[in-house]
Amino acid sequence: MIRLIEDNDPSSFELLKALYPHSGKAFIIGITGSPGVGKSTLIDALIFEFRKLEMKVGVIAVDPTSPYSGGAILGDRLRMQRHATDDGVFIRSMASRGQKGGLSRATKDAAIVLDAMGHDIIIIETVGAGQGEFDIAHLAHSTGIVSIPGTGDGIQAVKAGILETGDIFIVNKSDKPDAEASVFQLDMMIGMRRPLEGGWTPKVLKTQALDGTGVEILAKTFLSHFDFMKKQGLMDQKRKKLEHLYFQSLLTDLTLEKILLFMNDSKVFREALNNIESRKTDPITAAQHVVNKICVLGSND
Ligand code: GDP
Repeated sequence: MIRLIEDNDPSSFELLKALYPHSGKAFIIGITGSPGVGKSTLIDALIFEFRKLEMKVGVIAVDPTSPYSGGAILGDRLRMQRHATDDGVFIRSMASRGQKGGLSRATKDAAIVLDAMGHDIIIIETVGAGQGEFDIAHLAHSTGIVSIPGTGDGIQAVKAGILETGDIFIVNKSDKPDAEASVFQLDMMIGMRRPLEGGWTPKVLKTQALDGTGVEILAKTFLSHFDFMKKQGLMDQKRKKLEHLYFQSLLTDLTLEKILLFMNDSKVFREALNNIESRKTDPITAAQHVVNKICVLGSND
């Protein structure tokens, strides 16, 4: 099913329509951070903790499909290998199709599949590259941002605006020097964040993913964030927001598909192209003209 989604197979739409009513129960966790901070190792340890609570866990690792990813897919598979024979765990890597945030609608579709399959927890792993972290908050109910001591990631976080996105900040590799300083720095920055009334105060936690130190607390903190959101009625709000964004991305994709298909053999498109080629019109005016001609739907109802 996920392969059909990745391949953009037309049958995937029908299957997703049938699955959709069975989804909406899972708690979706986003884990993001720079390459090498230990995300895969940490997720492996988190799976272990959630399994102790007898929760079914699905993992979608989004491969950035860029030259610097250097075999992310293989790495994830290897690091989470110990769960390979566990029926309660499903791990899948997905290519991001070159989308800016390293995420795409396909990831959301895959999350619907895992949700409908009855996974209690779905973990989506993404590489945080620049602004990419913004996107994970469009998919996850709770977002964990992973950094390591002494890399100035905290300051980077402020610059990139991801401080607004994180629900839990994880200082992994806390066996290394300066872990306390990183925690202190992140705590301070969060303190400066304007508190939302009845809102969640982001937590800063230390972990050592390799031996699992601090990961039990991390797993429980994710679950308590989930409970908190449910109790405050924030979960419904969040779900609505995520559905809205999903609907928008579907509309964008479907509209684009349709317009491109129609346009390629339309007279208005060929004329506009000729006008650009002969420099009679600039490309912007031409594009606006074509879109205005095509989008004469005329109904706002
Ligand atoms: P990812 O690229 O963020 O998924 O990072 P990986 O999970 O692949 O980890 C990158 C490297 O960091 C691996 O060699 C891990 O063994 C190592 N690593 C992960 N967690 C820790 C930790 O808590 N302490 C130390 N010292 N190394 C770690």
